Amino acid sequence: MRVLRTIREDLDKLLLAGSIAREARERGIQLSQPGAIMLDVVEEVEELIIRRGGKPAFPVNIGIDSVAAHYTPPSGSSERFPSKGVVKFDVGVHVDGYVADTAATGDLGGNNQALIGSARKALEEVIPLIKPGASIRLIGSTIEKTITSIGYRPVTNLMGHSIERYNLHAGFNVPNTGSTADVTIPREIVIAVEPFATGGKGFVVSGRNGNIFSLSREKELDDEESLSMLSVIRERFSTLPFAERWLSDQHRHREILNRLARRGVIHAYQTLLEAGGGQVSQWEHTIIVGRDGVIASSM
Ligand code: MN
Ligand code: MN
Repeated sequence: MRVLRTIREDLDKLLLAGSIAREARERGIQLSQPGAIMLDVVEEVEELIIRRGGKPAFPVNIGIDSVAAHYTPPSGSSERFPSKGVVKFDVGVHVDGYVADTAATGDLGGNNQALIGSARKALEEVIPLIKPGASIRLIGSTIEKTITSIGYRPVTNLMGHSIERYNLHAGFNVPNTGSTADVTIPREIVIAVEPFATGGKGFVVSGRNGNIFSLSREKELDDEESLSMLSVIRERFSTLPFAERWLSDQHRHREILNRLARRGVIHAYQTLLEAGGGQVSQWEHTIIVGRDGVIASSM
């Protein structure tokens, strides 16, 4: 397949990020078992990513049941996976800023195959539709119809997204419903497609602090602690999201992070919760779209 100039130089890094992300996702689902300590699992998977030559593009997200996204265990947490429910395992890997973003849903207790299968089938149905010029409305309506035909609702205010270097949400969206302006997929773009399905209301609302942050806007800072943490964040994570637990304890880091968040210098992600308390399933792949068709995906 033809690979154009804008992507060619970057393609090796993108492909490596994708293959590490796939392995990390599979390992994460395997480790996400009733009674396992969540922190141990996310740390093992993040270490695997680094051993393979990548870096986490964001903290491993674990979403149990109605927690749709944006939660990672904090440092010192002894929280365990429950004996029943669904667990979404969402992983990002970057190689020199080139990001792959992928997710799967595991079944705790074995009773949730229909819900899990609906989001998975939605993703499988639309991957063959993806190419330059493909209709976003057709992709969204295919996701919606696939999920509703199995008896669930798509989560309408979560969507897929384009990815650029060091930029996880780069502006082009891939909705999970057909009620959307009909734009087409451009050539040479990296997109993550991520159907979410639920038996609840079909949209998410903000919950509590999810222990995930990212750089936000520049502001004058006068205290040394804030300035030194900010320079650590810039150096280590650039514009990508990071976990509270990735920062060293010796910096009174939680307090300083909260101070930076209050001042708007960093963004504190809140968990996203299904509005009706419904369980949520999710599947996600990152897809590299070339000039004529799909070059690769994280499947
Ligand atoms: Mn993701
Ligand atoms: Mn994503």
